[in-house]
Amino acid sequence: MALIVHKYGGTSVGTVERIGRVADKIVAARENGDEIVVVVSAMSGETDRLTAMASEISDNPPAHDVDVLLSTGEQVTIALLAMALHERGCEARSYTGAQVPIRTDNTYSKARIREIGPERMRADLDAGRVVVVAGFQGVDDDGRITTLGRGGSDTTAVALAAALKADECHIYTDVDGVYTTDPRIEPKAKRLEKITFEEMLEMASLGSKVLQIRAVEFAGKYNVPLRVLSTFEDGPGTLITYEDGDVEEAVISGIALNKDEAQITVAGIPDKPGVAFRVLGPIADANIEVDVIVQNVSRDGSTDLTFTVHHRDYDQALALARKSGEELGAREVAGNTDIVKISIVGVGMHSHAGVASRMFEALSREGINILMISTSEIKVSVVVQARYMELGVRALHEAFGLDTGPVTPDEPESW
Ligand code: ADP
Ligand code: ASP
Ligand code: MG
Repeated sequence: MALIVHKYGGTSVGTVERIGRVADKIVAARENGDEIVVVVSAMSGETDRLTAMASEISDNPPAHDVDVLLSTGEQVTIALLAMALHERGCEARSYTGAQVPIRTDNTYSKARIREIGPERMRADLDAGRVVVVAGFQGVDDDGRITTLGRGGSDTTAVALAAALKADECHIYTDVDGVYTTDPRIEPKAKRLEKITFEEMLEMASLGSKVLQIRAVEFAGKYNVPLRVLSTFEDGPGTLITYEDGDVEEAVISGIALNKDEAQITVAGIPDKPGVAFRVLGPIADANIEVDVIVQNVSRDGSTDLTFTVHHRDYDQALALARKSGEELGAREVAGNTDIVKISIVGVGMHSHAGVASRMFEALSREGINILMISTSEIKVSVVVQARYMELGVRALHEAFGLDTGPVTPDEPESW
């Protein structure tokens, strides 16, 4: 008998009818002899709807109250799924994060899981019950509800799989695996049979939201066998694995997209030691994460410093940059919210020369101007104007031979 953790995302539990179909899948897995723990997200759109209500009341609502609000979305789906299972003669028990308990730190809205008590779940499984757990939430040392950041149900599932020493963790979603790039942007995207943890982590960090970054980190750290599959049709999905030996000999495994960043330039500042620190220090002190940073070659003893931050931090970062720019006598401080970061990712990259130049050539053929570049061992990222997003992704997909292969994501029409 295998113990499998299933996770169903928002689209998969988006209607009462779909919750019924999920229950059918779980009943089938039980009949197959598996022990099942299920993690569910809120119904699709619900977390956004709750967030919008909070913003109608306040521009700056207390973070712990926001978490109490957002966690209700998942409480609805665990109850409905447990009812649907009961209706099918399958005994189940539903748990909120706090009831499990899933203990976290107290960084509301992006809490980290510290510890999970597996005893109650274990007792249910031993009694032949299916365990249904609310994703995306936990409880801190003060007994207050926390949430794990958008997409956090993936992390709940992986963490439960680690705590229960499950045989596998299945992430069921609205695509049938991890693709070479977002299949909604590039219809020629191809499903990957396997992807390494390292590559998946890079893809997730660079903007591919098919898995939450922390879920991949957790799975890699605790060696949880992780698979992304479709809720709506049977298939092998994509295995996230350590081995890269028999992962196809591709230089590039995938292309990631990040639409959440904005760019800030502090132009014409003196080119002398400490200047980057004077600009970026206050931004770091405000707890704002800076991503890509580029400093131009000095001209006439002055230089330009350009960097990107998340959209949500843009206004604050721009104000801080204006302040330090003024102190440093900058010629201009400018912002640009109309950008996108496109990254190519692949562990094969470090053994192949010329990957970056092939990327730049493909973009230049399409007349796409590169605003910023950043590289690491297994990725090259470029920042370009947002209007070039689709053209850029498609050009790179073709240039790196990712187009070959018949697979396209199937819409869940039958549902
Ligand atoms: P869920 O609600 O099930 O958690 P998400 O919307 O979080 O689903 O993640 C699935 C979506 O991720 C897909 O619909 C797809 O548009 C997007 N996506 C982005 N990059 C990729 C990729 N490389 N492979 C597959 N899906 C991707
Ligand atoms: N409901 C949460 C969200 O929309 C968590 C999740 O779906 O994983 O981000
Ligand atoms: Mg998700």
